[in-house]
This record gives sequence, C-alpha cells and structure tokens, in this order.
Amino acid sequence: DAYIGAIEAANDVINAYVTVTGDKARDMAKASDARIAEGKAGALEGIPLGIKDLFSTRDVHTQACSAILNRFKPKYESTVTQNLWDDGAIMLGKLNMDEFAMGSSNETSHYGPVINPWKASGSNAQLVPGGSSGGSAAAVAAHLCAGATATDTGGSIRQPAALTGTVGIKPTYGRCSRWGVVAFASSLDQAGPIARDVRDTAILLKSMASVDAKDTTSVDLPVPDYEASLGQSLKGMRIGIPKEYRVDGMSDEIEKLWSQGIAWLKDAGAEIVDISLPHTKYALPAYYIVAPAEASSNLARYDGVRYGLRVDGKDIADMYEKTRAAGFGAEVKRRIMIGTYVLSAGYYDAYYLQAQKVRTLIKRDFELAFNDVDAILTPATPSSAFAIGDEALAADPVAMYMQDIFTVTVNMAGLPGLSVPAGLDAKGLPLGLQLIGRPFEESTLFKTAHVIE
Ligand code: GLN
Repeated sequence: DAYIGAIEAANDVINAYVTVTGDKARDMAKASDARIAEGKAGALEGIPLGIKDLFSTRDVHTQACSAILNRFKPKYESTVTQNLWDDGAIMLGKLNMDEFAMGSSNETSHYGPVINPWKASGSNAQLVPGGSSGGSAAAVAAHLCAGATATDTGGSIRQPAALTGTVGIKPTYGRCSRWGVVAFASSLDQAGPIARDVRDTAILLKSMASVDAKDTTSVDLPVPDYEASLGQSLKGMRIGIPKEYRVDGMSDEIEKLWSQGIAWLKDAGAEIVDISLPHTKYALPAYYIVAPAEASSNLARYDGVRYGLRVDGKDIADMYEKTRAAGFGAEVKRRIMIGTYVLSAGYYDAYYLQAQKVRTLIKRDFELAFNDVDAILTPATPSSAFAIGDEALAADPVAMYMQDIFTVTVNMAGLPGLSVPAGLDAKGLPLGLQLIGRPFEESTLFKTAHVIE
C-alpha cells in the first residue's frame, strides 16, 4: 500500500510507470502473507518490484514503450519475472523505457520521457534519468519500488543507474534467460537488476538468474550466493585500469572520480595495475553496426498481423508499410535502416562482417587482460545527468551514442559489468564507477562494489 501510494503521488511528475498493477499487487501480497503464515516464505517474499516494459508479463500490458505494441498483452510470462514471482516478489507495474530499449535518455518512449528525481543544486531544470532503463532507475531512486528489473544491450542498466545514484549490474551473457524479453539485439541483450544498494542488487540477481530450456544461450552453471561475497577482503586482488578509457575530452570531474575509486580500492588492499585494451576505440562504431543489424531482423515481426497495432491498407504490403510507418518512432526507424543497410548484399562484408571481427578482437583484449587482473575499474558514464530535450543531442544522434562509450565493450565481450554510485559532481548530481569482471564472476564485482558504495 505504501509503494502504491507513493506511485500515485509521484508518477504524474516522474512518469516512471506506464502501467500500475495495484489490484494485482494487493492480491500477490495476500498470497505472500499466506505463505509467510505457513512458514513457506521465499527469498523475495513480499518484496514489491517494478518491471521494465520489455519483460513479457502474462495478461499485463507489455508494450516495449512502442506504439506498435500498443495495448499488447502476452499470454506468457518471461522466465526472469517468473523466477521473481516464484521467490515471492510482488509486481507493482511496468516501467517506462526508451522505445524497444534504443536510447540513452528515456526520451524515445512512446509514453513520454521519464524525469530524473535528482535536480542540480540551485536549479529546477528537469534532467534525464538515462536510458534505456530510465523508468527502472528513476523508480528505484524515488522509492517507487524496492528494486526493478532492467535490460542492458549497450549500457542500459549501468548508465541509468549511474545517472540516478542507484546500483545496476549487467550479468554475463547467458546468466539470465532472455526468454520472454522483447528482443533488441539478441547477441548483446541481458537482463539484470537495478536497486538501491549492492546488497539488494546481489539478492535480486540471485533470483533472476537461471538456466532455461527455452533460451539455449542461457548457461547451466550454479547461481552463487552473491550476497555472501559482500564484506570479503580485497587483499591480493588485482584491479586493472585501462588507459584507453582515458578518452579525449574526459572531464576533470570524471577523472577525479576515477582516481578516488582507485584510492578506495588500494586502501582496501587491492593492487592497482595499468592495463591496455587496445581495440576499445572501435567498440562504439562496431556496436552501432551489430546492434542495429540484429534489431532490423528482430523487429521484422511487427507487421500488423501478430501483435498490437494494425493500420489497414489497400493490400497486405500497404498494410505492413502503414502499420510500421505509424507504429515505430524515429530512433527505431533509424536503427532499422542502418541495420538493413549493413546487412544488404555488397555492404555485408564491408560493415557487418568487419564489425564482427572487431568484436572478436575486443573480446580477446579482455581475455588477455584477465590473465593478469581480477577486475577492471572505469567510469560508468562520460557525464552526469543532462537536460531533457538537450538540443545538441537531439540534433545529433551520434552525440547521444557517445553516452555508451564506457559500457558497450562489456556487451560486445559478453562480460559482467556493474555500476555503483561513487560520488556527486559539482552540481550535486550522482556519478558512477563501473567494474568489469571475468565471465560468471559477478561475485567479484559485488564484493568490490561494496567497498566503493
Ligand atoms: N544506448 C544504447 C543504445 O541505444 C544501449 C541501449 C541498451 O543497452 N538497451 O543502443
């Protein structure tokens, strides 16, 4: 009741929820009470969560914040959300996001932007919460849920977490099932949690993660007790600082934040090691070939026949065209056009194949680095939260893509990456540090982040 009251009071301003499932939440809470009374409480019994609109939820609107999925209600439940309900969690509703998870500011949503609950000191200007999981991050930051699900294809968990002072982890590719999660770029997409601290994030990931026969890329490895790693010593740990992340034009504040993080980890007993990830500078351009290529294929299914919106036409081809013209927003159309272009005959070798080779080199950079270090520390974002409707960013999509500069490499290599709040900038806005780990070594990230938070 407290969370539903808070949502009713604040959501008109923050716009974090696009669907509120108050009645369902109360029913689930009653069932939770009954299980507690019987002594059968699950790991998340009675914990109220918000769910990113990208996760299919049975008989509850699942719209990926796109007009083309307007009023779509699936008849199935995503594996990740099912895992949460099986552990006793309660669904408060569906959270706003960039359309089909494409964006870094939550401004491409069909349901309008999310407002970051943080304001710069002395200013009332509305700021973005980051994206694409902007609703998840803002809802957690504003106490409109105890934790949230999110997804990360190129940074969409870590960047909004950094911009809202929350913790988010993109687990190793394959740690969580992608089944029932609306696909953006299938070789990069991973689900993960955003929560208020490292402990809550660790507890949520434990419930979300599982092998799943319905997603053959999910991995059959035991899910460790991540919480148990908190408080463990960092003595003997080696932390890599990659020189390529010291990008041109990096602000003094980000530079300072990074040095502060290094000092904290040193104080905790870790050894700091300079490393090189030489192919880093190719990650962003390669990502913006691979991700749109996969998106153009995944989004072919929205044809006016199977899901959501249909705009009638004089014949079937005309109906497809009118439906897709009306149903997709500008950023989604841009991605589909880039994707179909790089996959087309004559360009495939020059762009798509080349990007895949770059991806292999990026992966190899990390493999070599992890022969020497146990984790890597970098900034999470190039800046703190920026203004809604920033004209320079709106006019230049590539400038917005730069928000992903520190995060996309991790998706390209399939590695786990965590963003943890590490301080405030001169405007009083939160900034995050990113920890990157070896495949399936999320525990290392949790224990290290716990020292920073
Ligand atoms: N900002 C990136 C993009 O627009 C990442 C999005 C994501 O991780 N879903 O593609």
